[in-house]
Amino acid sequence: MELYILSVDNLKKLSEELIKQNWDLISPSEDGAGYQKVVNSDKISLNSKAAPTKISFKEYFFPKSEALFYFKQNQNDVELSDPKSADTKTVIFGAKPCDAASLPALEKVFNWDYHDEFFNKRRDNTVIIGLACNYSDEYCFCNSVGLSQNSEKGSDIFLTGQNDGSFLAKIVTQKGKDFVAAFKESFSQSDAAGLSQPASDSESPKKEAPAQARKFDYQNIKNWLDKNFANSFWNTAGELCLGCAQCAFVCPTCHCFDIVDENCSLNCGRRAKNWDSCQFSIFTKHTSGHNPRDNQNKRYRQRIMHKFKYYNDKFEEILCTGCGRCSRGCEAGIDIAGILEEIDQLPE
Ligand code: SF4
Ligand code: SF4
Repeated sequence: MELYILSVDNLKKLSEELIKQNWDLISPSEDGAGYQKVVNSDKISLNSKAAPTKISFKEYFFPKSEALFYFKQNQNDVELSDPKSADTKTVIFGAKPCDAASLPALEKVFNWDYHDEFFNKRRDNTVIIGLACNYSDEYCFCNSVGLSQNSEKGSDIFLTGQNDGSFLAKIVTQKGKDFVAAFKESFSQSDAAGLSQPASDSESPKKEAPAQARKFDYQNIKNWLDKNFANSFWNTAGELCLGCAQCAFVCPTCHCFDIVDENCSLNCGRRAKNWDSCQFSIFTKHTSGHNPRDNQNKRYRQRIMHKFKYYNDKFEEILCTGCGRCSRGCEAGIDIAGILEEIDQLPE
């Protein structure tokens, strides 16, 4: 295990150097709305006690809307051109464990039957510096989905705050190791004696991490879902749902998208990949007018099935990191942890 110390002064020097070298620096915004690009080193926010931002950082890998190519119709042919390549080197400072853990899950679907070069390029060009979390509220449940406030999953370097304001930096991946080697003036060697060390993924959260009240066994949930597609539980599970898709858009792991041609005039336009959601009523509507998910209960069942059964069957990953964002922001008060706790108690 390679451990270093990143002091407050060195964090500032490191960010100034990165800005000078034209890296994009991304960090949670101070108002908690989302992650934002930082152009001033003082704006890097490494607050382990902050709540998860309202929106996750997924748009830095999978933008809300992006051009796949542009087209222009000439007299007898169509001219195609590529969008600007997403090759800016990027570092995300202070990623919550429940955000960082979404990336290994998303990588599976973006490299399954088709290798999504847009996602992969951004992923390759981005270093994730995770931060141990000291926050918990009534919506958090990372401990119930195999993660913890100290989970290093998805991080390249994992920081744990120290009493003097510095950070213990643990190298997690080769990319993290290369980053530290490239900016070695900012990281001092540590023997970690007397310092708070991050617990490994398999260990329980550090003592000072607040306990989580929400608890269920995700394996039980999977077992129940395997046998209960037609259970009457689904007749009411989504009846309050407005179909607004706020839950999908703030979620670090939701990744549905639609591909459409958007014309800029009669003879030119772009083919775009835009966020979509299984919670929208027209998501599965056929051209014939038939809709196999013709009510919100069926659509909510799909949300739970996809996250806890289908994705698990296909990729051995749960499509949920327990960040609680979908519940915090739901105008209808639908609490995914409550639904999962209820399922956990149902007889198989
Ligand atoms: S669960 Fe809540 S946030 Fe999600 S679509 Fe329904 S009303 Fe909107
Ligand atoms: S489903 Fe909800 S709790 Fe799970 S990762 Fe998405 S936003 Fe977070």
